[in-house]
Amino acid sequence: MRICLFDIDGTLIRSGGAGQLAFENAMEVVFGIKTTNHSIPFRGRTDRAIMGDLFAYCGVENNHQSWQLFLKAYLDHLPGCMDERDGDVLPGVVDLLDQLSQRQDVAVGLLTGNVAEGAQIKLGYFGIAHYFHFGGYGDHHPQRELVAQDAVSAARLHLGIPFENKQVCVIGDTPHDIRCGRAIGAVVVGVCTGSHSANELAATSPDLLIETFSQPEPLLEVLFREHL
Ligand SMILES: [Mg+2]
Repeated sequence: MRICLFDIDGTLIRSGGAGQLAFENAMEVVFGIKTTNHSIPFRGRTDRAIMGDLFAYCGVENNHQSWQLFLKAYLDHLPGCMDERDGDVLPGVVDLLDQLSQRQDVAVGLLTGNVAEGAQIKLGYFGIAHYFHFGGYGDHHPQRELVAQDAVSAARLHLGIPFENKQVCVIGDTPHDIRCGRAIGAVVVGVCTGSHSANELAATSPDLLIETFSQPEPLLEVLFREHL
């Protein structure tokens, strides 16, 4: 059995910045603060981490109530922001997911910094949410490594069979994805469809680096190597 854990933004889809726009709209609606001039990095980070930085930037107390208010507004705004921005599914993604979903020896899940409901909205918008049956999400942890552990736990619960972490493959578009995959002892695949160049990703030493999923053969080869 192989367990594939996909990142979302820059890996499966491009939202055209809809997530960031929904974050900024939520900050304005809930706390009355415009946050368009910040330099807080979004890519490859968990929603919880981004929100923590935004709250600190705006002087908003980072507590449960603020988070709940913010989260509700974010999720309310996200579908409209998806409409507003010009996103798409990245090349080769649907074919690859179709191929993987037809195999009995692979389970496909998510390892994303998105909150769970945000992940469903983004993937549902493009009609690909049904490929994913479990995942680790960015609702609770600022550290992506902990999200990776959650994703593996969710896979164990979903599959109900034992497996080793070296049977897991983490696929993503940022150095954060590569590092969190390494942290759990997974096979790590970088894909250059996000905002990081092949050189930047190569510097983090993934097991495999691919341009896009349009030519999935090297990925399938790594996934289904005998010794995994
Ligand atoms: Mg990403």
